[in-house]
Amino acid sequence: MEFSIPDELAMFVESVRRFREKELMPLEQDFLLAGRFDAATRTALENRARRQGFWALDVPEEYGGQGMGVLASCLVAEELFKHPAMFEFGGSPEPVLYHGTEDQKARFLYPVVKEDRRCCYAFTEPGGGSDVAALRTTAVRDGDDWVINGTKTFISHAERADFVILFATIDPAKGARGVTCFLVDKGTPGFELSRPIPTMGDDWEPHELTFTDCVVPDANRLGEVGGGWKLATSQLTHGRLKIAAYQLGIARRCVDIAVEWAKRRVTWGKPIATRQAVQWMLADSVTELEAARMLTYRAAWLADEGEDCENEAFMAKLYATEMAQRVTDRCLQILGGLGYSKELPIQSFYRQVRVWRIGHGTAEIHRWMIARNLLGLSARD
Ligand SMILES: Cc1cc2nc3c(=O)[nH]c(=O)nc-3n(C[C@H](O)[C@H](O)[C@H](O)COP(=O)(O)OP(=O)(O)OC[C@H]3O[C@@H](n4cnc5c(N)ncnc54)[C@H](O)[C@@H]3O)c2cc1C
Repeated sequence: MEFSIPDELAMFVESVRRFREKELMPLEQDFLLAGRFDAATRTALENRARRQGFWALDVPEEYGGQGMGVLASCLVAEELFKHPAMFEFGGSPEPVLYHGTEDQKARFLYPVVKEDRRCCYAFTEPGGGSDVAALRTTAVRDGDDWVINGTKTFISHAERADFVILFATIDPAKGARGVTCFLVDKGTPGFELSRPIPTMGDDWEPHELTFTDCVVPDANRLGEVGGGWKLATSQLTHGRLKIAAYQLGIARRCVDIAVEWAKRRVTWGKPIATRQAVQWMLADSVTELEAARMLTYRAAWLADEGEDCENEAFMAKLYATEMAQRVTDRCLQILGGLGYSKELPIQSFYRQVRVWRIGHGTAEIHRWMIARNLLGLSARD
């Protein structure tokens, strides 16, 4: 059993650490007070990342990316998420990468990898996000076009996105077999951002999107008619592992802050680090953090080996997101009032981690899937 990170990858992660220290950390105080990066700051950071070659890391080299694997992208995510801004190096619109035609790749993949275009991913609707049968946004064929009507909600990054990867149904009665994916450019008549949805997370304002008789050419249909659910779920495993990796970075940063504080803060003549109540909070935190790391790295390694790691990814994301909730809470407690203040990032992390037990599949759906795999049951049982 080999647990070490290959030298070349370790060196790359070290260069990401230097990027975080040099480019992101000096902006942390401003970020915490404002609760956001303004668009100009985020764009400037993205441009600096591009210039240093930190872009499209997981896109194969033939498409202009760096061709790094799943473990590599997890290690990079872990490092970057030690900063509360949720700053990430640009990735790829994975559904286009794996399911797009050459024409679609030219229009929707290369511009994201090589230029400044961005996308968002719209599945969830007001009627529900977990249950595919709740999908009510319809796509009706009209000659060489499709006419789309419906509402999507909680769509992250919609404001900055140039196009949306949209999931609609050709017939709600067909359930998963009716779901079809489309690439819809911003500015297409009938497509609008109807309202922002303020959330408890810093710098995270998803949007509601509406589609009213929005005409999309069949050339913008991604994958098969009725193949959208398979396409959506096939991309989720990698995403879940990255989310698990975010939690590792967040938890590590919070533990580091708490350890330093516990050694310095003196009560009744002794550092609080000498008190068992504080030691146990730290001991539990690092133990759980390491357990989450092992689950995540192993699943990522399996993915890089080309093995099916869907169940491992469910477990890694479930455990890591709940671990991060407990660790951020304990670390905030160790800092006392200071932990609650906006002078330190712990409160921002504490609010941020809450979303990961909801997005990309809720914790309950993850448990359901893990149990189904264990028991050999299907969704109908
Ligand atoms: C900040 C933020 C950003 C988001 N970004 C995006 C985005 O970019 N694109 C996108 O498409 N969506 C996005 N979402 C939506 C997110 O994916 C959904 O919120 C999530 O899938 C859950 O769906 P829901 O909110 O409709 O909850 P529901 O599906 O209605 O579930 C409600 C509760 O019931 C539980 N539940 C449901 N079914 C079962 C069951 N069978 N067994 C046990 N428990 C069950 C759930 O676990 C949950 O606790 C975002 C959400 C947030 C908060």
